[in-house]
Amino acid sequence: MKVFKTVDSVKRNSSNIDEKFSLGLVPTMGALHEGHLSIIKKAKIENDLVIVSIFVNPTQFDKAEDLNNYPVTINTDLKLLEEVDCDFVFIPTADEIYNSNIVSEKFDFNGLDKVMEGEHRKGHFDGVGTIVKMLFEIIKPTRAYFGEKDFQQLQIIKTMVELKGLPIQIVACEIFREKDGLAMSSRNTRLNDAQRNAAPLIYRSLLKCKELFLEKDMTFIKDYIDTKFKKNASLQLEYFEIANVKTLSPAIDIDKNEKYRAFIAAFSGSVRLIDNIALN
Ligand code: AMP
Repeated sequence: MKVFKTVDSVKRNSSNIDEKFSLGLVPTMGALHEGHLSIIKKAKIENDLVIVSIFVNPTQFDKAEDLNNYPVTINTDLKLLEEVDCDFVFIPTADEIYNSNIVSEKFDFNGLDKVMEGEHRKGHFDGVGTIVKMLFEIIKPTRAYFGEKDFQQLQIIKTMVELKGLPIQIVACEIFREKDGLAMSSRNTRLNDAQRNAAPLIYRSLLKCKELFLEKDMTFIKDYIDTKFKKNASLQLEYFEIANVKTLSPAIDIDKNEKYRAFIAAFSGSVRLIDNIALN
């Protein structure tokens, strides 16, 4: 496994790869867990070579506290990447990426960034767009892999690739969960025991929403979920939304020909957790 720390070295590596070989990119912020590894394994099956990037991208954080507390476990990450036979790893510093000018480019994502995560984390998707576009330019992958855990991010990246006409296939990967249903996340390691025990309420609520989806109206479902969270002292609901998967706009009346998903963001202390589920 080759580890690259500079933009120049990883660029050179990509340009030395024979055109007949496909290259799969898995962008991550490290503190790798089974969810990440499942994506890397999928990328290994579908490509000749796989590169994983590990970069805690400062421009996508709206709160310094969240950025400063983001878990960093580089040595363990490298061991795990060796175990899954990853070919290349790119671990740049913020200076290497931003040249001491840590600001985002501004993007037009067709309004997909105006709701949910975009509404609650100002500037988040400009930060995501900035780093993903840079990684695409530097690495020039054949395919890039993104988890449905961050479904809004996935749709936004697909839109960016379409709008800019980039020759990269975006591959969606299903959500990996702990046995009790909690979506795997690097942030889960920051939960104390009580918070960890309470956290599966997020997925249970999404499952309940799926059950109610075709029987009840939106107001009933929203009130139901709200009440469940209010009864739980360890979790504060930030938003619960049912949205059309293409537009991500909140569903008011359900069109049976369209696809919908339910989305939750909740705080457990200072740890912010997100999850979502397909409803139809
Ligand atoms: P992160 O390191 O959290 O930025 O995640 C890197 C990539 O892994 C993103 O595309 C995430 O959507 C994806 N990912 C994170 N957690 C999971 C999970 N539990 N299941 C599937 N994909 C995930």
